[in-house]
Amino acid sequence: MDGLSLSVGGRTLCQRPVFGTHRTAQTSQCALPMWEPRQPIPGRRRDRFRPPHCPYEECPAHLAVSHYRAIHKGSYRRKRDPWRPIPRFRCETCRRTFSREAFATSYFLKRPELLLPVANLLVSGCANRQIARHLGCAPSTVTRLSVRLGQHAHRFLELSIARLAGIGEPVVLDHFETFVRSQQERLGIATAVGQTSWFVYALQGAGYLRLRGRSRRKRALKRQPTSPPPGSVVDSTQRILECVLRRSPGGLDLISDDHPAYRVVVRRLGSSIRHQVHANPDRSPGGDATRVRARDRALFAVDLLHKLLRHSQAHHRRETIAFGRKRASALGRAALFAVWRNMIKLVSERRPTRLTPAMRIELTSRPWTWVDVCARRLFERRIKDLSI
Ligand SMILES: [Zn+2]
Repeated sequence: MDGLSLSVGGRTLCQRPVFGTHRTAQTSQCALPMWEPRQPIPGRRRDRFRPPHCPYEECPAHLAVSHYRAIHKGSYRRKRDPWRPIPRFRCETCRRTFSREAFATSYFLKRPELLLPVANLLVSGCANRQIARHLGCAPSTVTRLSVRLGQHAHRFLELSIARLAGIGEPVVLDHFETFVRSQQERLGIATAVGQTSWFVYALQGAGYLRLRGRSRRKRALKRQPTSPPPGSVVDSTQRILECVLRRSPGGLDLISDDHPAYRVVVRRLGSSIRHQVHANPDRSPGGDATRVRARDRALFAVDLLHKLLRHSQAHHRRETIAFGRKRASALGRAALFAVWRNMIKLVSERRPTRLTPAMRIELTSRPWTWVDVCARRLFERRIKDLSI
């Protein structure tokens, strides 16, 4: 296939070549430019801001793509920044009023200045209380901000996948094992990573994985963990492969280990997946070193991602008192890590080339910052319906 059309709201926006097949020559002719960051909403001049749509989900104008009408309806000043008035508007469709801040990621926050430092510290190996001590706020504030950042990161990942014309490289799949509440309750996170770009395409939670053993003492001390939903690993594998397949119209080259769930799902999804299996080999001194090297080379991208994930987030360590309390929070913070990995973190911090995984797949032209990632609020319904 020569290229793919990117459709937003039923409108075809561009023909962009698939990554890895037609690189530079055709990309320059693409009608849709690379994804450039926008100016953050709170930093915009009062007279330069026009609301692009209604912020209320129930309003018919919430999904407006163009020609949205809202009139100025005064302004207000905040105590902490009284010199810059914030404009208010009234929607001409539902007649409700809203302010410019409804379009900022920090909407309705008492301390919006904490959002970006918290995001940065959450991927720097800090636990919530350490972040709170460092920033001079309550630990519960960090918890609330991390939930908001996790939701934002999920939407951001979804949006970045929607902006891709196609996946033109093999995808490496594996489950990352972490814990919720204690080591007795395991959570699998299915991760799909590009083999050559290291771009994280998707994440999916896999419910609680089955325990392998528990001592009598631990059984007496701890309550029984939630039993895993039947087939949770198969379900998460199916969801993540369906997501990646939607962006691989020419078929998907999948690389994984020999987990039985992967074979089941690949059989179920049909012949559009070319599956390459590398069984986990015997790594003892008498084992086959050639097979070990072949497996490690093929699955390097996902192994590296899991190492970074365990290293960069406090609650993913095997021995810690910082385990997340909820499964959704752990998944949200994993999504935040994936956004940081894709858009902000350089492929190599040792080498002078300033290259991110998103630049490798020609999604962006330069490394982004947390300011760019959180420049505007992402509305769930607009992401789901329009991918904008
Ligand atoms: Zn409205």
